[in-house]
Amino acid sequence: MAVLPNPSTGQADAPATLGNRMSSLETLTVHGLGRVAEPYRDIVPPIHLASTFERAADGSYPGGRVYARDASPAYIEAEEVLRQLDGGTQALLFASGHAAASAVLQALEPGDRVLAPQSMYWALRKWLLDLAEHGRIQLAFYDNADIADVERQLAAAPTRLLWVETPANPTWELTDIRAAAALARQHGAMTLVDSTVATPVLCQPLALGADIALHSATKYLNGHSDVVAGALVTREDSPLWQRIRVMRNLGGAILGPFEAWLLLRGMRTLHLRVRAACANALQLATELAQHPAIAQVLYPGLPSHPQHATAVAQMNGGFGGMLSIRLRDGEARARDVAARVQVFKRATSLGSVESLIEHRASVEGPGSRCPTDLLRLSVGIEPVADLLADLTQALGD
Ligand SMILES: *Cc1c(COP(=O)(O)O)cnc(C)c1O
Repeated sequence: MAVLPNPSTGQADAPATLGNRMSSLETLTVHGLGRVAEPYRDIVPPIHLASTFERAADGSYPGGRVYARDASPAYIEAEEVLRQLDGGTQALLFASGHAAASAVLQALEPGDRVLAPQSMYWALRKWLLDLAEHGRIQLAFYDNADIADVERQLAAAPTRLLWVETPANPTWELTDIRAAAALARQHGAMTLVDSTVATPVLCQPLALGADIALHSATKYLNGHSDVVAGALVTREDSPLWQRIRVMRNLGGAILGPFEAWLLLRGMRTLHLRVRAACANALQLATELAQHPAIAQVLYPGLPSHPQHATAVAQMNGGFGGMLSIRLRDGEARARDVAARVQVFKRATSLGSVESLIEHRASVEGPGSRCPTDLLRLSVGIEPVADLLADLTQALGD
């Protein structure tokens, strides 16, 4: 019988009775790991709210848990599903995607060099710049789509961490994970892939050679715009990973039990939702590329995308639910289109069942590298005809 390791004791913990009986990862995910809780044989796990756990008279911990900040039982199922989805050896949940990133960056030594992509989720980029400005890390950037530039930058100075985001916000450039991770290893650097947009359904960074996968679980993993959470999955139990585990515990940015429970529920439909969003996004991208008001559609699934070949090579089963459009008539027109939509919701974030649209440059604010004529679309799972009709009316005749 498969058993789950308990991080606070290192001992075998709750049996994962389904994992070794069912061959399909998708089935495991649909079943939310499938453990049945005694004494009522619940199909859905209870929410573990306890913050502390009883010691025996001899001082031992018969339940295998000491305190919820170290290792709450509330995370067992969600972390195990995440671990299996990304094909890693261990997974950790965090209070947000940023908290997950924070634990990684706090786990570095002062002055360690981080190599990050020019295009990436803006708030993380801003934060890396802030850490560099305060002397906590050294920071250099590479061109997301240019593997030769990754190599040049790795050769320029000893690097501890190569940060990859693919497809990258908000223009959806791809980075060849296999090539980038191999170069990083040659140069003694670890590779982290922010796989939030691709999700484990479409891309497996660890199998491609990355060391750590990062997810804002707020997005597709939860998928319903009602949880803020983050996750890390590691290929190996490295010294850096041990530090990251310590950073979660001592840094204290842990997820609440109810959020962990909601996340597990959200992940049950992950495969269905991602497949539906991919199909919708591909159809919208294809149709919008013909629209006279649109100068460019940025979507990895279009053959016109500069890294379409990389997308085909490292994304399986779809190209994601995120796309951006650039309006021929510039910023005013972009804002006008966003103002006119009726089905799409005007909001930031991504990866939920409902479609969202945003004028990205104005969300990112000063210092944004995003073109001002760009609208970012998070395509949901509504019937695509409704989405297309909405965008068509918003774009005008
Ligand atoms: C949203 C997002 C993050 C940050 O995650 P939070 O859960 O909002 O903290 C990081 N990376 C990407 C690609 C994101 O979309």
